[in-house]
Amino acid sequence: MEHKQKGYLAQALFFCATGEPFCDNRNCRLFNAHRQEEMLLAQLHGGDDFCEYHERMAARISTGG
Ligand SMILES: [Zn+2]
Repeated sequence: MEHKQKGYLAQALFFCATGEPFCDNRNCRLFNAHRQEEMLLAQLHGGDDFCEYHERMAARISTGG
């Protein structure tokens, strides 16, 4: 699966779980880039990391709890 698709999948999961698929933390994979410049930064530096909040939530989702 391509990296980009994984990002979309994560967003879909978080949307189901929280109703909020985006994050304000620019280091978070779910960072909601409002401008093209931020979008590029997010793709360059966002990587595979979640912020602390989403990290915890991802763990909960993946363990089904
Ligand atoms: Zn986040």
